[in-house]
Parts: sequence; structure tokens; C-alpha cells
Amino acid sequence: KLSKRLQMIADRVPVGSKVADIGSDHALLPTYLAQQGIIVAAVAGEVNPGPFEAAQRQVLESGLSKIIQVRSGDGLAVIEPGEVNVITIAGMGGSLMASILEAGKSKLVGVGQLILQPNVGEEHVRRWLLHNGWKLDSETILEEDGKIYEVLTASLAGSEEIGALGMLYKERSLPDGVHVSSERLQQMGPYLINEAPEVWFIKWESELKKLAMIVDQLKLSTAEASIAKAEQVSQEIREIKEVLACLQ
Ligand code: SAM
Repeated sequence: KLSKRLQMIADRVPVGSKVADIGSDHALLPTYLAQQGIIVAAVAGEVNPGPFEAAQRQVLESGLSKIIQVRSGDGLAVIEPGEVNVITIAGMGGSLMASILEAGKSKLVGVGQLILQPNVGEEHVRRWLLHNGWKLDSETILEEDGKIYEVLTASLAGSEEIGALGMLYKERSLPDGVHVSSERLQQMGPYLINEAPEVWFIKWESELKKLAMIVDQLKLSTAEASIAKAEQVSQEIREIKEVLACLQ
């Protein structure tokens, strides 16, 4: 049985897909997808030897070697252009994820869908999608074992959609006049801010605590740069609090 987090990702993979799961670790996701008959082929990519071997073992022991190929390599280097139509990347930071997508742009030929689960720094992923012609289709947030995860899905924008991608992050005013910047929407999620689910509030309350700790640390220094940074983070805290307060 998959974890709730991986299940959420699996549920978003269209039937009949050819998937590349990048940073696959034990290849649990492609194994499940193949066992359920959801995918017709998969590449499980891993850059580190330990997880690569674990993935190989898993696929061999599950008797799925005809469907899942385990390959060793960095990011999208493990796939050929046109080989897959869906890419899943889960369980790593958003900035690493964005750099994997950026470095592997030429491998995205034929890929129509991305299913991404950054552990932190979701804004890096949203920004990359926005600037590279990918339409953010959905955002889901879930809690499992005391951790909170976001799952983002995106599809390749058609030529008529490209010009309007930024609309999703257009600064807006919330019901009682609170202003939300484009940057804040990229950080907090343009759909999540609309839906404002309970778990999302819990996540941002905890992020606020982390930001407050950063401010406390910065305030220990009298360096000009630290003072300026503390003021910047304090402003960010005020803005996030305003958003949360008006949606609660
Ligand atoms: N995707 C699985 C999941 O969500 O349960 C495993 C997540 S695990 C925390 C992250 C994996 O990404 C590690 O096994 C790590 O070796 C792999 N990884 C990190 N950077 C990578 C890269 N540039 N290319 C491929 N794999 C990478």
C-alpha cells in the first residue's frame, strides 16, 4: 500500500501513460502504477547509487522489468526526448526540482503533464512552470505523519493559452481588501488561496513560526544587511498574516 502522499500522486497519473519518475528511490510509485495497470511503460531515474540499487531490486522482485526501466543519471538525463508523456518528481525541494526541469528542457518533448510534489520551496516550481509555458492545473495539500505536502499538476499550455498563463498569478484583492501580490500567490498557491483548506492554514502557521525564528536570528546581528533582511522578512510575515486572517 502506498503512502497517502504517493497515492495522491498516483491518482493524478492518466491511464495509459508512459511515465518517468525522477528521483524514484525505491521505485514505489512506478511499481504501484504498473501493478494497477495504470501505466504502459516507465523509467525510474535515480542519481544516487543506493536508491538506484533499491529501485532495481524492487522492479526485479516485482517482476515488472518489462514495464519499468531503472536508469542511473541526473534528473531528466535518464530519458530520451519523446520517450514518456508524463513526468513525476516527488520528495525533493522545489528549487532542486526547478533546476532539474530547467536542465532537462530538451527532454520535455512529447511530455504533456508534470506531477510535482516539492517538499519545500513550492514557489520555485510554480515560477518555473509559469516561465516555461506550463499551465498549473491543480494544487492539492495533504497531511501525513505530521508533515504537510503539496502536489502540483501542470500541463503543457497550448499556443492560445501561453499568453494568459500569468493571469493565475495576477495580483488581487481578497474579499476585505487585503492585497495579494503575484509573488505571494506563487508562494502560497493561486488555487490553494482560493480554497484555503484547513491543512493549508496549519502549514502557513508553521511557516510563520519559522520566519519569526529567522527574524530573531537576524536581529542578533547589527550588520546593515541583517537589519534590512530582518525588516524584509518581518514584512513578509505581516503580509502572510493578513492573508490568513482575511481567509479564516
Ligand atoms: N520520489 C520518492 C518519493 O517521493 O517517495 C523518493 C523521494 S527521495 C526523498 C528523493 C530522491 O531523489 C533520492 O532518492 C535522491 O537520490 C533523488 N535525487 C536527488 N537529486 C536527484 C537528481 N538530480 N536526479 C535524480 N534523482 C535525484
